[in-house]
Amino acid sequence: MSEHPSKVYDPLPLVGTTDVEQELMQQILVTSVDQILNWARRSSLWPAMFGLACCAMEMIATAMPRYDIARFGAEIFRASPRQADLLIVPGTVTWKMAPAVRRVWLQMPEPKWAIAMGGCATMGGPFAYAYSVTPGVNVLLPVDVYIPGCPPRPESLLTGLMMLQDKIKQDTIAKEWTRRDVEPQFHRYLPDDDPIRKELETLWPPYLDYDNPPSEQFQE
Ligand code: SF4
Repeated sequence: MSEHPSKVYDPLPLVGTTDVEQELMQQILVTSVDQILNWARRSSLWPAMFGLACCAMEMIATAMPRYDIARFGAEIFRASPRQADLLIVPGTVTWKMAPAVRRVWLQMPEPKWAIAMGGCATMGGPFAYAYSVTPGVNVLLPVDVYIPGCPPRPESLLTGLMMLQDKIKQDTIAKEWTRRDVEPQFHRYLPDDDPIRKELETLWPPYLDYDNPPSEQFQE
């Protein structure tokens, strides 16, 4: 059965008829905006220079020549969160440190991603259920990849990085952009009058200043 002529795929001739056409065929690459953006983003992740505990030593080792995170384009650890788009959380996130971690995350520009490196950042690790340790950094910010281990070896971090790159590869600008965030649920872990809980809750919209209630803030 013959196909309808309008549905027959008629590819362009592979060989140009002029020198200019032949030259162009060797120089032009056609792709989608999504593919080029995702390629650029996943191939040039800039992690924040940020470490919390022993897992940070493994993260540092990953940047050294033996493991060479530069092979993945992610070797530029930025000293300022404003120039970073990847937050690797390597280590124990204590409640005392939690507001600082959240502030670093908020200062990073979009689009941004987070990796929870090791048992501590994932669920408290060996300190799980301790009064002073959060049950994972996912109570503070949206985590893209969790890496198990205590500590995870550099190979594990590189595997996590590649998983994140695969995730970025699926992104599209066609969908409506929404800010990814987690619900603040500190009432589950900290008492009402806890100063750290109060401070943490100011770091979520509508960013209320608990020391200056709204009625006072907006008085003329
Ligand atoms: S997971 Fe283990 S190695 Fe990593 S910060 Fe916690 S205790 Fe240290």
